[in-house]
Amino acid sequence: MLFWYYKNMHTVVVGGGFAGIKAALELSKHELGRVTLLSDRDYFLHHGSIYAVATGCPPDAAMVALDDIFAPHPNVKVINTRMTSIDPDRKLVVCGDHSYDYDKLVLALGSELDETQKSTHRHIFGVCGREQITAIHEHLQNSIINDHYVDRQYVIVGGGATGVELAGALAYYVRQLVEQHLAEKIKVRITLAESSERLLPRASHEASKYVTKRLQTLGVHVATNTRVTPHDDEFVTVDGRKIPTETVIWTTGTKAHSFYKSHPHYFDTTSKGSVIVNPYLEAYRNIYVLGDNVEGYGSNTIRSALDMGEYIADHLWRQETGKLYTPYRPSSASFAVSVGDDWSYVEALSVYTTGRLADWMRRRIVAASYRKIMSKSMVDAAMQAHKIKNPPE
Ligand SMILES: Cc1cc2nc3c(=O)[nH]c(=O)nc-3n(C[C@H](O)[C@H](O)[C@H](O)COP(=O)(O)OP(=O)(O)OC[C@H]3O[C@@H](n4cnc5c(N)ncnc54)[C@H](O)[C@@H]3O)c2cc1C
Repeated sequence: MLFWYYKNMHTVVVGGGFAGIKAALELSKHELGRVTLLSDRDYFLHHGSIYAVATGCPPDAAMVALDDIFAPHPNVKVINTRMTSIDPDRKLVVCGDHSYDYDKLVLALGSELDETQKSTHRHIFGVCGREQITAIHEHLQNSIINDHYVDRQYVIVGGGATGVELAGALAYYVRQLVEQHLAEKIKVRITLAESSERLLPRASHEASKYVTKRLQTLGVHVATNTRVTPHDDEFVTVDGRKIPTETVIWTTGTKAHSFYKSHPHYFDTTSKGSVIVNPYLEAYRNIYVLGDNVEGYGSNTIRSALDMGEYIADHLWRQETGKLYTPYRPSSASFAVSVGDDWSYVEALSVYTTGRLADWMRRRIVAASYRKIMSKSMVDAAMQAHKIKNPPE
């Protein structure tokens, strides 16, 4: 009877990021019945590689089709749709007009970016998904390569990992495009604005110090304790000073996914919106929450998302087959950030490395995290794409 149940169990996983993909792949390996993966994107997005695609690498450096990832796993059905609500009493996931029944529901929705600023200024670019990242790339290409025009001021808002990586990559990329496509030498100013007193405010002081120094070496103007506000379509205000710009890249405002807070009957959330789960990552009867948004157990990193995905599949398998199971234990994650070509800062267990060696280590970390959810050939293709700039259309 037990065997029949678990072989016929239906698990619905929502979210095609690191946590959701890992959970679905592991459930498939455990042959734990049917698995349906619902994702509002038909591709997986590696947030940590957004800077590469924005500055000239092909999209494959950061995005991989979910269908390709799951091609060798026919017992996982991938559906491109957006979950709008849930009905746990009837065990249903609702996606607009459609609903999907489940025995177990795994939610891995990731974080959201606050997009309010973006809508107030024509030249503000976001970093949320394929369209936005491609828009940054096309904007740079169109102005410099096609129109032979370079914006004198580039403003990146937010000195977290994304802002830092974009500033470093942009410093190289814009200089390279200007040299190749413009006749005269033009001085371009790249400002990285952060409202806290240091860059990478959530990382160690060493990380802030070395990364700031490196950015300054690349000619990036690092403005800490600085707030940027959109002024009108032509200007932003950087600490009270009006700056004319057509390129503002807004990377701040990451917050917990609003879905949980908007379903208070089923989820206990903190004031910041992260979800309170039991030691087995269960938030409500038969509903589990993974990845970003998990209060207390997660570190909002790729490592944490992958660990949770792996844990939940093993946990469900153990639970359903009557085996002993243990609570989820978070492991410590490394921190790696790239700043311009061939230079990174990597920190693990309070030991840090910078420069080329760190860059090699960072690439290994990225490849290892990809490898947890992709075949070797797909990982090789994604890593190769990081080395290509401005591929022909
Ligand atoms: C810009 C940026 C850069 C980062 N850089 C790094 C880094 O260098 N190293 C690192 O360790 N971490 C980094 N992080 C954090 C890391 O990306 C996350 O911790 C990790 O991706 C979390 O995995 P996840 O599966 O929980 O969420 P995600 O990877 O965000 O995946 C969530 C998925 O759910 C989908 N989804 C959301 N809502 C719905 C819905 N209602 N219906 C259907 N699908 C839905 C989303 O479209 C997305 O595909 C970065 C994060 C950001 C935002």
